[in-house]
Amino acid sequence: MRWTQAFIPTLKEDPADAEVVSHKLMVRAGMMRKIGAGIYTYLPLGWRTIRKVERIVREEMDRAGAQELLLPILSPSELWRESGRWNEYGKELMRVKDRHEREFALGPTHEEVITATVRGEVRSYRELPLCLYQIQTKFRDEVRPRFGVMRGREFTMKDAYSFHKDEKSLNDYYQVMHKAYSRIFTRCGLDFRAVLADPGIMGGKDTHEFMVLASSGESVVISCPDVECGYAATTDTAIGNPGAPSERIQPMEKLGEVHTPGQKTVEEVTAFLKVPPEKLIKTLVYHAGAKRVVVLIRGDRDVNEAKLQKALGAHEVLLADEATIKKITGAPLGFAGPVKLAASSGEVRIIADKLTIEGIRNGVTGANKADYHLTGVCEGRDFHVDEWHDLLLVREGDKCPNCHKTSLTAYRGIEVGQIFKLGKKYSDSMQATFSDEDGAAKPFVMGCYGIGVTRTVAAAIEQHNDEHGIIWPISIAPYHVEIVPMNVSDAGTMTVADDLYNTLWRNGIETIIDDRDERPGFKFKDADLIGIPLRVIVGPKGLAQGKVELKSRGAKETRLLGIEGAAEEIETMVKKTLDDLSVVR
Ligand code: ATP
Ligand code: MG
Repeated sequence: MRWTQAFIPTLKEDPADAEVVSHKLMVRAGMMRKIGAGIYTYLPLGWRTIRKVERIVREEMDRAGAQELLLPILSPSELWRESGRWNEYGKELMRVKDRHEREFALGPTHEEVITATVRGEVRSYRELPLCLYQIQTKFRDEVRPRFGVMRGREFTMKDAYSFHKDEKSLNDYYQVMHKAYSRIFTRCGLDFRAVLADPGIMGGKDTHEFMVLASSGESVVISCPDVECGYAATTDTAIGNPGAPSERIQPMEKLGEVHTPGQKTVEEVTAFLKVPPEKLIKTLVYHAGAKRVVVLIRGDRDVNEAKLQKALGAHEVLLADEATIKKITGAPLGFAGPVKLAASSGEVRIIADKLTIEGIRNGVTGANKADYHLTGVCEGRDFHVDEWHDLLLVREGDKCPNCHKTSLTAYRGIEVGQIFKLGKKYSDSMQATFSDEDGAAKPFVMGCYGIGVTRTVAAAIEQHNDEHGIIWPISIAPYHVEIVPMNVSDAGTMTVADDLYNTLWRNGIETIIDDRDERPGFKFKDADLIGIPLRVIVGPKGLAQGKVELKSRGAKETRLLGIEGAAEEIETMVKKTLDDLSVVR
């Protein structure tokens, strides 16, 4: 591509609405433009990179024995009603009506559509296992579209669905997909981890998320630094293991009431009463749909709301406002406690974190009375819990719940892919069966596997950039090489530059030449911004010695190449770097 003919509208300034570096750079490097909230046009440079990621995904899916097809984006509501998700999915599902008032969904994911496609067609166990995939635009009306294409309302996803005769076959194929995903993200030049995750609304059991390590990531991953143990999970899934509180072996004290005027927060109460925060029984009131619940957790710890949501089977949980708290506990914010609470509030269930609250002795809680707390509070004697769950927000420093030896570490990650063992959730509800060896009709055992293609591009930029711009891994760079002729009005310069450009393209090296009549400094700035991995500078200094300068994006030093052998040397470098990237750990 010749820059003078290209559409690469680079910008000097960051867009005002961009919070993360990938969003800023994708706009500034002329890769995309915003059309609406969470809706983008991919410009030629952006599209080239997206297509590169897609190509890697296709190659690895095909290698794993999956076949590509294309499902419709528009799917009739009847299918979603069959699975129960027309209601369950909530507002994230984009719904449209046709001229006859029939309802449709714009596909956010395609379990229903693929199940409807396969049922009745795949009849015998002999045709299994089968895996089908597509790469397609998905629609989700996200509550908060943000971070550019990281959380869009329209985005590109690769989604694959596998059909099996039994769990064993699914388990085997899950491993195949796990490997394929590792190959994909390695080839994209990403530092990532596969971690245990929460199945959420998809249903099913085992699931792993593939996380790209990045400080801007929306997910927190907890992991055991002991490689032999290897435990890694998102905070929504990580099992709580805070160690048994010593209070449980203490003799029970008498329940007492203390005056704590104006002492509301854990910090205030612990300082005022001179007790450690582990003594406190934190009492929170939540809205869970139309219901309200009281949630207990030890004073030094926090509730993971995703765990709470799952425990309650709710779509959303929300901390209650002061008026609701007052109605339920009879006291202002900061003085709630579980003792005699149920009696005063009637219908409210008490849910507690099993690990930190069960058997707790001589704790401190609010007295459900303004400016008073209770001391010597013992679970079982002074209050009763309706439901026990693991609600703990696991944090760095907690003991590993797997090996029980090492302290956990935490890091942030961007979820770029997820693999699920769905089991029979969709085949049962949508009656998709095959006839097994014994002639019996059985529901398919299913798996599903997603990759956010556009999010992967953003994640790659989060990991590969500096203050000047993007530093593409060569496998997904829009071009491998950028040629910068220093002076386009110099015929000698342009002959060398054009020759190199033509030879490189002939040898399969994707090259862009910045043939604009601009100062070298201006062109170098744009080159840094768009981040092409290899830059060849054709200028008077080198030409005087019969050479051109080669510089890697991100490296300081340049290397001189003889004009004659330059194309060949560059080709070897590109191919070697591509090969190195495809070696999977
Ligand atoms: P998240 O938890 O980030 O909302 P999800 O768990 O809902 O994602 P999946 O249903 O597992 O996402 O979708 C598969 C992949 O699609 C995700 O791993 C992610 O890479 C990508 N993805 C999901 N939602 C979006 C979005 N709004 N914008 C861009 N990519 C997305
Ligand atoms: Mg997910």
